[in-house]
Amino acid sequence: MSNHPLVITYTGNGKGKTTAALGILFRSLGHHKRCAVLQFIKNGNLVTGERKMAEQSDVLWESHGVGFTWEHDRESNTAASVEGFRRFQQLIDTGSYDLIILDEFTYPVSLGFLDESEVMSYLKDVKKRRKRPHIVITGRDAPASLIEISDLVSEIVEVKHPMKSNIGPQMMIEY
Ligand code: ATP
Ligand code: MG
Repeated sequence: MSNHPLVITYTGNGKGKTTAALGILFRSLGHHKRCAVLQFIKNGNLVTGERKMAEQSDVLWESHGVGFTWEHDRESNTAASVEGFRRFQQLIDTGSYDLIILDEFTYPVSLGFLDESEVMSYLKDVKKRRKRPHIVITGRDAPASLIEISDLVSEIVEVKHPMKSNIGPQMMIEY
């Protein structure tokens, strides 16, 4: 069996980027793999189905976001993103994860909360390591540099979304 850890990016403005990443998480857990999810930007107070399941499944799940609204200043978003990125580096250094999901990670890069070239050179460096996890990154507007570094990029295009027909968020589908 070939073992080639990938950098995967799910981007685009349609719904399904985070759920695609969680699909890989589900699959990985079936193989008893060690998994981590680091969430950026979004405030982590919301207790979602995926988070509850992660706790039951021994998945490391951390939020490194302060909320995606402009009420929060750039400074706190930057601080949270830097902390989340450092945590990612720590997890990589442990060498014990098989999958790390960086949810909504495109934003700290595209909005400049993190230094784009620093992030990309780190990812390039990780890709040279023999033992590394699969890394899945989600979020809209993936920067060109990230697309270049990724081995797999899928763009989810919005065709129809229930919220546009005034159907509210549904449990199991949204959270
Ligand atoms: P999901 O977590 O459901 O896979 P996503 O990761 O692709 O969604 P995000 O950009 O993280 O999408 O957006 C999160 C929230 O915004 C979700 O509640 C989602 O339903 C909603 N959303 C995503 N795409 C659209 C859209 N095109 N129109 C309206 N709401 C959307
Ligand atoms: Mg998402």
